[in-house]
Amino acid sequence: MTEGHLVAALEEHVLIVFTGGTISVSPSRDSNHPALGGAQLAGEISGFSEVPIQTVDLYRAMSESLTFPHLHKLVTFLRQAMDQPAVRGVVVSHGTDTMDEVSYLVDLVGPWSKPIVFTGAMRHNELVSADGPANLVNAIRVADTSASIGRGVMVVMNEEIHAARYVVKGHSTNVSSFSSPGAGLMGSVVEECVRYYWSVPPCTNSYRLPALDSWPKVELIRMTLGNSGLFLRACLAEQVDGVVIEGFGAGHVPEFLLPDIQKLIDAGIRVWVVPRTASGHPLYATYGTPGSEIGLQSMGVQMEEGPGHKARIRMMLELAGKE
Ligand code: ASP
Repeated sequence: MTEGHLVAALEEHVLIVFTGGTISVSPSRDSNHPALGGAQLAGEISGFSEVPIQTVDLYRAMSESLTFPHLHKLVTFLRQAMDQPAVRGVVVSHGTDTMDEVSYLVDLVGPWSKPIVFTGAMRHNELVSADGPANLVNAIRVADTSASIGRGVMVVMNEEIHAARYVVKGHSTNVSSFSSPGAGLMGSVVEECVRYYWSVPPCTNSYRLPALDSWPKVELIRMTLGNSGLFLRACLAEQVDGVVIEGFGAGHVPEFLLPDIQKLIDAGIRVWVVPRTASGHPLYATYGTPGSEIGLQSMGVQMEEGPGHKARIRMMLELAGKE
């Protein structure tokens, strides 16, 4: 086990990077920060010996408190791990609350030459039926198989394999809280067998990771009935770089907010509208009524795929530029 840096290892192995989250929480030991690191968590799966593993403690944070320096540290570390000949694949043990955003960001700054698999736990290790150890073992199996190469970054929870591109956390506590609306499961892990049903198209993004001191400022605003437009005006006053608006249905906004949106565009602020619904695509050419996609696009708004929190990550990277 190492503290945040790689050791050269001759034997091929799966590298597990511990970053915190519920999977690392032991309430009776520590109520402030995740207490369990790689050594303790690897101990919980000591009966599992099919695949050689190495562990690294990168940081111990609850994923809702992650900052851009954390993300930099993670991506930099993963890039170094790809260059280690003995590393067959990498598991990132992570908090579940932002796992869909962080795994998506890692996916977008790819392509990655070896499997990268995020996992975590919905139930901490002092609860009956804690799911962390089983998730960890399944994630190791997925990271270890050559069938996982070229499938983009993945999330393995509850015996299911999801593409980071499509996965969302949709339930606050349930062990089956991860799903991929519209796309469906990419695969599953049953007994020790990793099965794939489909593959994501190859990643061609090559987004650059923004420099630490220049992460674009992008805000996410959800449309609600009778919305006052207060946050749109705050974004203008703050001169943010971009705004992602979760619009009604397929991406519609109230007619009375159009002047506020026009001011953002006139000020050079990038504006995207995504559907606020849990699944489905934005429309581009169906409605011409005020506040709908045809008029929005003619104002300079881009209609984009949701969900909003993942679109925000994509816009940040897009504003930062490609390789
Ligand atoms: N708040 C925790 C986190 O995301 C929840 C979890 O890991 O399930 O770090």
